[in-house]
Amino acid sequence: MIEKNLESVPLRDIEGLPIGVAREESGELVKQVSFIPWGWEEEKAIAKVKEDSRENLTMTQEITQVLIRLIKTWGPFNFQNMDMPEREIRLRNSFFGDVWTAYAKLRVEAMGELLVFAMACPNCRDRFAFEADLRDLDVFVIEAGKVEECVRRYHVAPPMRIGGEACSYIDVRPMKWEVAHNLPGDLLGSEDPRFRAMAFQDAVIGADAIETHGAVLFIEERLETLRKIDIERLSTLVDEMAAGPDLATNVKCPKCKFEYRAFGDWRYEHFFGSTSLPESR
Ligand SMILES: [Zn+2]
Repeated sequence: MIEKNLESVPLRDIEGLPIGVAREESGELVKQVSFIPWGWEEEKAIAKVKEDSRENLTMTQEITQVLIRLIKTWGPFNFQNMDMPEREIRLRNSFFGDVWTAYAKLRVEAMGELLVFAMACPNCRDRFAFEADLRDLDVFVIEAGKVEECVRRYHVAPPMRIGGEACSYIDVRPMKWEVAHNLPGDLLGSEDPRFRAMAFQDAVIGADAIETHGAVLFIEERLETLRKIDIERLSTLVDEMAAGPDLATNVKCPKCKFEYRAFGDWRYEHFFGSTSLPESR
């Protein structure tokens, strides 16, 4: 498990969202989320979205499309009074960890908590079905009443060099869903420079030597000045502030007993499909 300063709580003990959606005027975080019942109409609407999207949607874009159709209330917002483009803007501007938690909660509410992942052991290559109880999912939470309280200041020694300036502290906040939504392919959480660039631009919002006037700290030319050691240090901090579900699970191979961490299949078709149900084995 990644070392984080954030407390982790099983999904079953989380009433709403692990961070919260900010009210526009006050910045107050509202953690409440609710869904509409998922019936035939919703099933048809989601099937149509997938059919209409010319190229295949990425996993995260699928999650966006499913959630904007099924969410009833999202923090302070009533999605039922908004059209789809507005719901999508609200969701993409929300925290990554909140969106992913909502996706897991929706699965529990619509189809139950038991979920079967198809696994392949990296040691003996045996293929097996791993049954998980989604309510046991570890979720990292941030206790904050207002959106500005989600920012954490990290003092860094020796200083980081950003755009030629020596910075002794940097401010990091949890990543927004927008980053995941815009990712090409399956780069999420990877060490691919494209993912890191987008994560830094979104989550690293300040440093003592650089006045950003509310704009992003990592404009392209500053990104290009980063040294390898600072890229790694920044990645660690962004990771530490990544609230939301721990997407990898501890798995033990039934054949060779090898224990490892596996990233399950969270794509819509599996997560909400018949193959994910225990009965279908
Ligand atoms: Zn094995």
